[in-house]
Amino acid sequence: TVPVLSVEDLWVRFQTEDGPFDAVRGATFQVREGETVALVGESGCGKSVTALSIMRLLPEPQARIHRGRILFDGADLARAGEREMRRIRGNRIAMVFQEPMSSLNPVYTCGEQVAEAIRIHRRCSRQEARALALEAFRQVGIADPERRLDQFPHELSGGLRQRVMIAMAVACRPRLLIADEPTTALDVTIQAQILDLLRELQDRLGTSILFITHDLGVVAEMADRVVVMYAGEVVEEGPVRAIFRDPGHPYTAGLLRSIPRRDTPRKTPLPAIEGAVPHPSRRAPGCPFAPRCPEAMAVCRQEAPPWMAIEPGRGARCWLHAEPVREVTAP
Ligand code: SF4
Ligand code: MG
Repeated sequence: TVPVLSVEDLWVRFQTEDGPFDAVRGATFQVREGETVALVGESGCGKSVTALSIMRLLPEPQARIHRGRILFDGADLARAGEREMRRIRGNRIAMVFQEPMSSLNPVYTCGEQVAEAIRIHRRCSRQEARALALEAFRQVGIADPERRLDQFPHELSGGLRQRVMIAMAVACRPRLLIADEPTTALDVTIQAQILDLLRELQDRLGTSILFITHDLGVVAEMADRVVVMYAGEVVEEGPVRAIFRDPGHPYTAGLLRSIPRRDTPRKTPLPAIEGAVPHPSRRAPGCPFAPRCPEAMAVCRQEAPPWMAIEPGRGARCWLHAEPVREVTAP
């Protein structure tokens, strides 16, 4: 099937006082019709920058797409003007963020804000927009929706605020929903409810979802395919089940080991991957994961691994998949 979104060799450069660095380096992936793709990695891996690039919400000109294409609905968003993006944002591509409070305006009621979002993209009266907002509130399972329409964001719980954001996002029937850590700020029970809601909306509306998270536990429940990012690069991609069964990149394997298990008490510290994501401005030669990789070989510290196919629809950026594993004599 034709992808709804196709990100091709995306590079995003930041200009800082210490000089330029690339926060996203050649990212390539697709999201197909009705599919949920999880974009996974620790913070600082380039997931959110990738999402903001698709929406063209990067803090330009300090951050810029300097190479690649973002194909959506026959247009290249990497080159779209602000007018075109305004037609797309919130309409054909909608976004839900981690902290709904910062995306909602405290001085308007929830109903006014959802209605306003609808009116930006649809010619309709205030009354019609309010009716559509009410309908959207019902669709996302907000109980007593009439009353909620007239409440202000601070009067709602975190979970309800996120439902309002999702109502706003789906009110215009977007083809693509980008959800950036939408449940990270919520407690476990509410998190499960919001994930259920997103799955149910996708079944009902057929929206494609790009789901951004650092939590592979959530990925197992939500996604069809996984795209793992590390230090600005896509390091692994494939179907969720295959990757969970047999991760193709040691970074993915490390993330999988750090999923909290239901049978361990909550306070138990997780066996996180040791070390930290390298800052993109300080890249050593070789594989960027090498300093943290339990399987690093001599070649890993000398040459960055290219993308390697593992099987159809699966690949990883890791020398472990070279055939035969390349022998390099130490310098
Ligand atoms: Fe580890 Fe080498 Fe693979 Fe990098 S290329 S992830 S260092 S084995
Ligand atoms: Mg982020």
